[in-house]
Amino acid sequence: MKKEFVVIGLGRFGGSICKELADQGMEVMAIDQDEDRVNEFASIATHAVIADTTDETVLKNLGIRNFDHVIVAIGADIQASILTTLMLKEIGVKNVTVKAQNDYHAKVLDKIGADHVVHPERDMGRRIAHHIVSNNVLDYIELSNEYSIAEIVANEWLVGNTIVDLNIRAKYGLNIVAIKRGGTMIISPQAYDTIEPNDVLIIIGADTDIHRFEKKLS
Ligand code: ADP
Repeated sequence: MKKEFVVIGLGRFGGSICKELADQGMEVMAIDQDEDRVNEFASIATHAVIADTTDETVLKNLGIRNFDHVIVAIGADIQASILTTLMLKEIGVKNVTVKAQNDYHAKVLDKIGADHVVHPERDMGRRIAHHIVSNNVLDYIELSNEYSIAEIVANEWLVGNTIVDLNIRAKYGLNIVAIKRGGTMIISPQAYDTIEPNDVLIIIGADTDIHRFEKKLS
């Protein structure tokens, strides 16, 4: 069965979610209070609606309760984002994902029952910073406040060694969970697998340990 989504706020972030969901063949209702933005999405979303989502009757009349997942991507207007989220949870929407502008906003969203709070600018900023500091770090994804996954290009220090030689688990407390080699992905590499030039290591571990490892590479 096709999943049905609602995206509220069609700025850069909400707009991009809406397009991606539509590309994946999902049913999407796109909502914004701005007519021009809604017109832009009329041919992309299943339904595109001009509405102010801080008005509870609007949410009820649109039947939002029946959708699987609502994404609140209202940008600068934190008050509208909070009010919308509050009402979505009050009318019984099961799954609400909200974009937070800052940590205070995120705290309030947590308190009022948002199911997922995302910080796209903060997270993307961190990922890019890791890449800028060390060209070897292709990507950096936070799993929690303390743990992350990093994609690291093998440099001369790594190439030619086996995983056992490098002893990354004992020295750095990190696990190599996969190696990307050309178009293939080696899942759970073995201790005696040798690292080849241009391999990309996917490592998981504590941020402090990943940072130590990044320093060693740069
Ligand atoms: P981004 O940083 O993702 O580009 P924007 O602030 O540009 O975010 O976009 C947020 C969108 O949310 C805007 O198109 C704005 O019209 C819409 N929006 C803001 N408040 C409401 C509201 N109460 N109801 C519906 N849409 C809203």
